[in-house]
Amino acid sequence: MDRISARIQDLTRELVALRRDFHAHPELGFQEYRTAECIERYLQDLGLTTKRMARTGVVALLQESRPGPVLMLRADIDALPITEENSLDYCSQNKGVMHACGHDAHTAMLLVAARILVEEKNDLAGSIKFVFQPNEEIAGARPMIEEGVLEDPQVDAVLGLHVWTPLESGKAAVSPGPVMGGLDVFRVIVRGQGGHTGSPHQAVDPVMAAASLIQSVQIIQTREIDQFQPTIIMFGKLSGGTRSNIIPDQVELEGSIRFLYPGGPDSQEQPTERFKRIARSVCETHRCGCDIEITHENIPLVNDPAMAELARKTAQEIFGSEKDITTLQTFASEDFSEFSSRVPGAFIFLGAGNAAKGTTVAHHNPRFDIDEEVLPSGVALLVRGAFNFCSQFKSLNIL
Ligand SMILES: [Zn+2]
Ligand SMILES: [Zn+2]
Repeated sequence: MDRISARIQDLTRELVALRRDFHAHPELGFQEYRTAECIERYLQDLGLTTKRMARTGVVALLQESRPGPVLMLRADIDALPITEENSLDYCSQNKGVMHACGHDAHTAMLLVAARILVEEKNDLAGSIKFVFQPNEEIAGARPMIEEGVLEDPQVDAVLGLHVWTPLESGKAAVSPGPVMGGLDVFRVIVRGQGGHTGSPHQAVDPVMAAASLIQSVQIIQTREIDQFQPTIIMFGKLSGGTRSNIIPDQVELEGSIRFLYPGGPDSQEQPTERFKRIARSVCETHRCGCDIEITHENIPLVNDPAMAELARKTAQEIFGSEKDITTLQTFASEDFSEFSSRVPGAFIFLGAGNAAKGTTVAHHNPRFDIDEEVLPSGVALLVRGAFNFCSQFKSLNIL
């Protein structure tokens, strides 16, 4: 066994203890005060200078001892408003809040990776920026970017990972191109003119317009966008009217648009622009007014091909066999996309599902848990990924 693997093994007890401590003390987005203090203390003990960003985010820089590029390693640190239903002795002590997405594991893995990289810094030709990001669940990456997390020194590339219970323990998944979905949320108010259902010609019926709108926007996937570019438009809430014989004044529709291909909020190729066009014209056809509110929650997470290849080879070194490194795409969304849309990046899924241990429950479920045995592999991905990136940077064909 080489020195890094041996060191990770030595630190496994500390790694698990950190994860359990964060698990027992989950905090919601932008309220991760205790978590941020634990991170700061740990990094400062390693001799690193820490900086707060976006309120509860923590950033530290491992300065190069030998010249080289700057790699950002990112972990998210927030928990969810869920009441934990597991019976573990390190269950959430913060009622109604739970680490049900595995960000406790991400935080612990990046801390231990930082310890090893600090110890090994003389062999590292480059700088590492450790970024502990708050509020991933509701887009906390943007405020960090606005506060300059990618600058001073300028970040050349970013690497991140997510424990993933739908994927078996002992496997990792990394692929080039889009891997997680873009997500826009909409609210549409269809305005008509109320009246008696016995004389619809004297009213303007927003119910018929809404029904037509729900159907018409489905042509975006079936007739407007390439069939191989997946798009899902779903309506999750419909409301309007008071009783059976009254035509209501207005109907409200809420839903989400998810897509798995590049395309920012400003792109005409993006389904949301098409949604707005069709919604407006359908309402006009029905003589209705229409107010559309769009919230751009996440842009798609797109892996840089060269970075994804570097991550895949790194995973292969760690997991040994090629068959344990798979590819994966999901419509779930992640604001790591904000970083990887600005600098070349790769996001790796670390399998953490183990049926025998009961850790195959979906993310965001009150019974979510991970197979802790995969944590050392996550540390190895970050540490070896950093070494591989720095040593191969000059020959890396990143976009
Ligand atoms: Zn989540
Ligand atoms: Zn997550």
